[in-house]
Amino acid sequence: MTVTADKETGQKLAELRAHLETRGLKHFIGGGWVDSVSGETFETHTPIDNSRIATVASGDARDIDAAAQAAKAAFATWRDTPPQERKRVLHRVADLIEARAGEIALLETLDTGQPIRFMKSAAARAAENFRFFADRCESAQDGLSLPARGFLNYTLRQPIGPVGVITPWNTPFMLSTWKIAPALAAGCTVVHKPAEWSPVTATLLAEIMDEAGLPKGAVNLVHGLGETAGKALTEHPDIKAIAFVGETTTGSLIMAQGSATLKRVHFELGGKNPVVVFADADFEAALDAVVFMIYSLNGERCTSSSRLLVEHAIYDDFTARVAERARSVRVGDPFDPATEVGPLVHPKHLEKVCSYFELARQEGATVAAGGERLEGPGNFVRPTLFTQAHNRMRIAQEEIFGPVLTAISFDSEAEALELANDVKYGLAAYLWTRDVSRAHRFAQGLEAGMVWVNSENVRHLPTPFGGMKHSGIGRDGGDYSFDFYMETKNIAIALGGHRAARLGAGTPSDARPTHGSEPDKKLAE
Ligand code: NAD
Repeated sequence: MTVTADKETGQKLAELRAHLETRGLKHFIGGGWVDSVSGETFETHTPIDNSRIATVASGDARDIDAAAQAAKAAFATWRDTPPQERKRVLHRVADLIEARAGEIALLETLDTGQPIRFMKSAAARAAENFRFFADRCESAQDGLSLPARGFLNYTLRQPIGPVGVITPWNTPFMLSTWKIAPALAAGCTVVHKPAEWSPVTATLLAEIMDEAGLPKGAVNLVHGLGETAGKALTEHPDIKAIAFVGETTTGSLIMAQGSATLKRVHFELGGKNPVVVFADADFEAALDAVVFMIYSLNGERCTSSSRLLVEHAIYDDFTARVAERARSVRVGDPFDPATEVGPLVHPKHLEKVCSYFELARQEGATVAAGGERLEGPGNFVRPTLFTQAHNRMRIAQEEIFGPVLTAISFDSEAEALELANDVKYGLAAYLWTRDVSRAHRFAQGLEAGMVWVNSENVRHLPTPFGGMKHSGIGRDGGDYSFDFYMETKNIAIALGGHRAARLGAGTPSDARPTHGSEPDKKLAE
């Protein structure tokens, strides 16, 4: 696939690539750009033609230790920075992201293969994430007042300490800001370990945060492989919590790796999200949303609706229309603004996605659209639809994480709910019906952390984001993020006259009267 970006974009891209090629990607530790202690590196390639973009420092436990020490040393400074000042710095990060949004979008497209049309808005969303949490710096510590007889209890939140942020290769820039912005707003310091398949824009983010005026060591970046740098981060005693976005199996590993240091974990993991379309739905609106939620972002999206459950009466019509759309989706150079699906992130991922084309045929499903890769050096596949599938097939149970949709028919509401929930994941679900009672009933029965009714995924930042079952632990968004990055402390103030039970001073009846508390009964607590 040749890159057909317009002349100006092509020129800018060539400049950026030359700069990356010469400079390479280094770690950012304690405010300085450094190579790995070991001197080891790996390479990152563009999925457009698998040519090299840059050499990347490959960190191990020693680099992670240096970054954790830097984050620990900077913690008191950043924690004690007045929240108004933290707010100012985080807004400045947002300003700089906006100023460099074009560059961020270009590099994200180059490194991940995501179409430029989506990466422009992803950069804007990243800035929005910083603004949203910047505005909450001052209220992050707020708690409750819980008066009791004779006591005033009040709660407050305090930053937990240096935290580790481990991110995946899909939309890496935006996803990293979704974790790092609330951590910094809470007053935590950060060590970020981005994914090895798409490390480029993490470097830009570190540059931007440094320029915005974060204290040295408040944010550190260590590149490297999951099983070395990632593992060391999860095991480091000075890292108090790990915010992880990635595969379910990696989440299990991290939980085990963090157990010796009792790491607090927040997991955003995989999904096999159902979209349920009833016969009474707005057919055309549902069609648009179904097509968008599986083929946008190359289908490399945790909330993609990859299982299509359609009521029997409209199943043939609906799937025929999805197949027609899938065949018309524009696959190609991700720098072309008209492109809707670009190349998959890595040849290994291409291989994984293509293995499901063969599997679908073996399992007896019909390949109604796509089901093949495109010739050429890049990692391109055709948008794919499997029909005549059933829920026990692996194509209906496993996260394929590409532009691949599995369609299943159902006869009744009860059957639809059973099918929707019959999967190990529980991240998102989508529901299309005009029956308002059914919409509420069904949404409440769905085993998913997020349900959209008559809509595709439309994010509202104050709402909780996260999954049930094997899709995650914990919620992000709004105040939910602060519950993870902060410790909630209760402070109980005796309002006067309270005395503890007088052990060694006589029988319980000798205890002095108290205001509100009954000393002997309290002994059990
Ligand atoms: P992955 O789990 O392979 O890697 C994610 C990160 O974990 C990478 O930085 C990797 O280096 C690191 N890692 C790997 N092994 C590790 C270990 N033993 N210890 C510590 N870190 C380790 O995931 P991926 O393939 O990069 O991303 C795709 C996955 O992410 C999909 O399953 C997708 O659904 C999921 N995802 C979930 C959400 C969500 O919000 N639920 C969002 C985006 C992506």
